[in-house]
Amino acid sequence: MAASGFGGGEAFRLSAAPGAGALKLHKGDITLWSVNGATDAIVNAANERMLGGGGVDGAIHRAAGPELVQACRKVPEVRPEVRCPTGEARITPAFKLPVSRVIHTVGPIYDMDKHPEVSLKNAYENSLKLAKYNGIQYIAFPAISCGVYRYPPKEASKIAVSTAQQFSEDIKEVHFVLFSDDLYEIWHETAQEMLSQFQK
Ligand code: ADP
Repeated sequence: MAASGFGGGEAFRLSAAPGAGALKLHKGDITLWSVNGATDAIVNAANERMLGGGGVDGAIHRAAGPELVQACRKVPEVRPEVRCPTGEARITPAFKLPVSRVIHTVGPIYDMDKHPEVSLKNAYENSLKLAKYNGIQYIAFPAISCGVYRYPPKEASKIAVSTAQQFSEDIKEVHFVLFSDDLYEIWHETAQEMLSQFQK
């Protein structure tokens, strides 16, 4: 299904299974992405406090309006100041955003995490699990950890695509909305390397 305002882009099949879901790539602003406002969600690259921040987190909070931070505040703390530990995910309504839900996850700070590849995989996997359990069929991710958390983007793209593949029979479409030409090119190259074998 076409995401509104996101014509073009590239589409791939996530696996060879009959009825396998699709992976779609776009360049743009994830706050504008939606499919139907009912079974769609965007993922926020949040921090552990979940009360907003810079980058994509700030953009999502600005576009959703102040009710989003109020909803995040209601997410119970698991330790002081931590609502979502690194690698985990939480879900809230999306308020003024065009999608139905926001899934908040926290990627690793590349230079500070002992096993950043495990934490990044967990962030994608737990977001997709939460989506599945909440009946989300269309989900859009930004390049988690590839901003101020400084994850090398090529390595990040491989983890993003391989983890999406694990859910090929659970979610109809996994979208990546990349904010720059460079990131779009990297994700595109990785998707071609990993998924072109499944194209009809
Ligand atoms: P992190 O702290 O996980 O590194 P950032 O928000 O700094 O998160 O960056 C994650 C990625 O999101 C970066 O590639 C950044 O360019 C991108 N980004 C920033 N704003 C947006 C947006 N509105 N839509 C999509 N991606 C965005």
